[in-house]
Amino acid sequence: IAAVINGQLIAEEIRSRIASEVRRMEEFIGKVPGLAVIVVGQRRDSQTYVRNKIIACEEVGIMSKVTKLPDDCTEDEILTALSGFNVDPSVHGILVQLPLPRHLDVGRISDVLSLEKDVDGFHPLNIGNLAMRGREPLFIPCTPKGCIELLIRSGIEIMGKKAVVIGRSNIVGLPASLLLQRHHATVSAVHVFTKNPEHITHDADIVIAAAGVPNLVRGNWLKPGAVVVDVGTNPIEDPSCEHGYRLIGDVCYDEAVRVASAITPVPGGVGPMTIAMLLSNTLDAAKRAYNFT
Ligand code: NAD
Repeated sequence: IAAVINGQLIAEEIRSRIASEVRRMEEFIGKVPGLAVIVVGQRRDSQTYVRNKIIACEEVGIMSKVTKLPDDCTEDEILTALSGFNVDPSVHGILVQLPLPRHLDVGRISDVLSLEKDVDGFHPLNIGNLAMRGREPLFIPCTPKGCIELLIRSGIEIMGKKAVVIGRSNIVGLPASLLLQRHHATVSAVHVFTKNPEHITHDADIVIAAAGVPNLVRGNWLKPGAVVVDVGTNPIEDPSCEHGYRLIGDVCYDEAVRVASAITPVPGGVGPMTIAMLLSNTLDAAKRAYNFT
């Protein structure tokens, strides 16, 4: 039976360290980090994510600002909000909550985002620097960074291991693959066109699942003793739950837990780490802006 990696607990430790760093910053230079969030439209999941991020900021003493724009807003309206935050000295991190409505070009928007404030790590230069050896990105995308942090803090070695990342999105799968390579794993990227993905995962010491497909990874996809990080957060209907649905991962937990040596649950695994990494990136951005160590 696998050890359960408690993301909630690890995230709490990280958040309390961030809170004390924020207090130290305020004491020494009279400033606190600031995060600005732009959210477009009424998607319920986006509203919830943003609310959770704002609450998390408050808890550690990070100042936050939210700009809400309507579903049918123009690209110029977003770019205007973004440019305002780019030059606002009280804002050190800017986050555009994804996904955006289809008529908006995420590429153009992340091009305009100030590199120094790109706490989600989506700016092409940050991704490019993540990919290149000998270069350092200013920020690493929060969810993949949270996955690696879970492995490291659970004492799981990455160097020399075979890792498989399922999914290659710009915000999770691709940077997760790049980050594992930085930690000297041998990485395979499985995606929707991959034939026999179960053969590839069966070879892996570490599996990061980020496909957005409920229960995709079955127990027999895994090598005995593999470490499994489940990024998937898929809502499924469940009338017995408070909101009529609950979240499940991309990994069939009940099967995987019998085969793996360690596994992250959903919820309570990667999710809380994503928020902790956002706070950590925002703190780093503010420290850099004020030259505070
Ligand atoms: P996405 O839809 O942008 O990308 C999905 C990727 O999975 C694609 O690269 C696709 O090729 C691949 N894929 C899809 N179906 C597949 C299949 N059957 N077999 C193999 N590969 C397949 O999704 P995303 O934004 O990367 O998010 C992935 C999942 O992670 C979602 O469930 C999302 O809700 C979740 N997520 C969780 C957090 C968190 O903090 N816990 C953060 C971001 C995303």
